[in-house]
Amino acid sequence: MSETEYKFRVAIACVIVENCLLALSRKRIRGGRIAIDIYEAKPEVSTIGAGVAIWKRSWQVLQDLGFEEEIVKRGFNVPKDGESRGPIFRKSDQPMEGFDFHDHMMPYGPLSLHRPTFLEILQSKLSADCKIHTSKRLEKYTTSGKDSEVQLVFADGSIATADILVGADGVHSATRASLFASMGDGYEQYIQPIFSGTIAYRGSFPKAKLAEALPSDRVKFWCGKNMHVVSHPLGPSIGMICYCSDPDAEGKPFNGPLVTEAATEDVVKRFANWEPDLRPLVQAAETYNAWAIHVVNPLPCYVSGSVVLIGDAAHAMTPHQGVGGGQAVEDAHILARLLSHPVTRKEHITGVLKLFEDLRLAPTQDAAEKSRMTGMMYEFSHPDFLFDDSVHPNKPSREELKALGNALGLSFGWLAEGNVEEDWAKAEARLKNITEQSEI
Ligand SMILES: Cc1cc2nc3c(=O)[nH]c(=O)nc-3n(C[C@H](O)[C@H](O)[C@H](O)COP(=O)(O)OP(=O)(O)OC[C@H]3O[C@@H](n4cnc5c(N)ncnc54)[C@H](O)[C@@H]3O)c2cc1C
Repeated sequence: MSETEYKFRVAIACVIVENCLLALSRKRIRGGRIAIDIYEAKPEVSTIGAGVAIWKRSWQVLQDLGFEEEIVKRGFNVPKDGESRGPIFRKSDQPMEGFDFHDHMMPYGPLSLHRPTFLEILQSKLSADCKIHTSKRLEKYTTSGKDSEVQLVFADGSIATADILVGADGVHSATRASLFASMGDGYEQYIQPIFSGTIAYRGSFPKAKLAEALPSDRVKFWCGKNMHVVSHPLGPSIGMICYCSDPDAEGKPFNGPLVTEAATEDVVKRFANWEPDLRPLVQAAETYNAWAIHVVNPLPCYVSGSVVLIGDAAHAMTPHQGVGGGQAVEDAHILARLLSHPVTRKEHITGVLKLFEDLRLAPTQDAAEKSRMTGMMYEFSHPDFLFDDSVHPNKPSREELKALGNALGLSFGWLAEGNVEEDWAKAEARLKNITEQSEI
C-alpha cells in the first residue's frame, strides 16, 4: 500500500502493551487505514517483570480485542464477577508472632497475566500496517514541519516523520521531556519523574523450598511501619516484593541506580526485627533486584498539538494496586478507537487528541492517587492510620487494625466497577460532535 492511501501516519515511541493494542485497531478501520511505525529503544522487543494484574476494565478491553480465547488456550483462569478470595493482610513488624487483621474478599477476581505470554499474544495479532523498528531511541521531537508534521530525532542521528507521535516510552519518557521543555518556564517539574520514596526489592524462590511456610496459595501482605512485603504465588515459585519507604524522601532527588542487584543478606537485615514467619521467606530468595520506584508528577496535559502521552510516560504511578499496566492498556484502547474511527480524518487530529486527554487525564491521575494512598495504608503512614508506635505489643490495637482492614477492602472497590463499552458510547458521541463541527 502506498503512503497516500493511509489516512495518516502514527509514530509510537515505544513499545509493547499500548502500542501493539494501537496497531491492532485495524480490525475496526473502515474509513481508511493507518500506517504505524513503532520505535523501540532496545535491540529487541521484550518485557520486564513477571506478571500484570488485569482488573475488570482492562479485561473488557482484552475481550474486545478477541484475546480471551488465546488467554484461555494458554491455561490462564479468566477473571470473574462475584466474590473471590483476595490477599490476607497481616501485622508483622515486631519480633514476636504477627496476626492477620484482614482477609480480603474481592467483588471481582483479577487475572494475573504472565507478561511474556501477553507480549507473545500481542505480537501474534499485530496489524500488517505496523512496522517495528528496534534500537531506535527517541531523543527528542520537533513540530516545525509542514502540516504540523512531527519530526522524531533518534539517538543514532536518524530522523523520521509522522502525523501523530504517541509517547509511550515509559516513566523516563523522552517524548514527555520534549513536550514540556517546549512549553517553557513553569513546566520543568513535569520533565523528569520524581522519586516516590520507596525501594521495591523483588525476588523469588521455588515453592518446594519452603512448602510448609506458605501452606496456602493466597497472596499475603506482611504490613508494618514504613515497610511491607508481598508474597504471592508465581507459577511454581513464590514471588517476594519487599517495599521499604522513607516518606520524607518522596519527591526529593534520588541519587543512585534506578534498578540494581541487592544481596539477600541486605534485604534480610532490613526485616531483622519482623515476625519469625516472615524472615525465612525473605531469606529464601537467592538474590533481589532493587527498584527505586519513580512516578510522574500529575501532568497538566497529556497532549500538545499532534503529540500525545500515554501509559507510564503520562502517569507512572506506584505499584500498590497493580493498576499501572491496566491504565496503560485502557489509554491505548481508547486512543486506538478514536483514531481508527471512520469519522476521524487528518484534519481532526488535534481535536481528537484533546478529546483523548479529556477522557483519560482525570481517571488516570485518580488511579495514581488511590494507589499512593493504599500504599500508605500498607505501611501505617496514611493520615487516617498513622500508627507511630507499631513495635509496642498493643499498638496499633486490634480495633485500629480492623478499621484499617475495612478501609483497605474499600480502597480496592473501584477496580470492580465501570464498563468500557458504556464509556466508549459516550466518547463516540463526543467524537462525532467534534468531527461534525469541523465540517460546518
Ligand atoms: C515493582 C513494580 C510492580 C508493578 N506491578 C504491576 C502490576 O501488578 N500490575 C500492573 O498493571 N502494573 C504494574 N506495574 C506498573 C507497570 O509495569 C507499568 O505501568 C507498565 O509497564 C507501563 O507500561 P508502558 O508501556 O507505559 O511503559 P514501559 O513498560 O516502561 O515501556 C516503555 C517502553 O518504551 C521503551 N523506551 C523507553 N525510552 C524510549 C525512547 N527514548 N525511545 C524509544 N523507546 C523507548 C522502553 O524500552 C520500553 O520498551 C508495576 C511496576 C513496578 C515498578
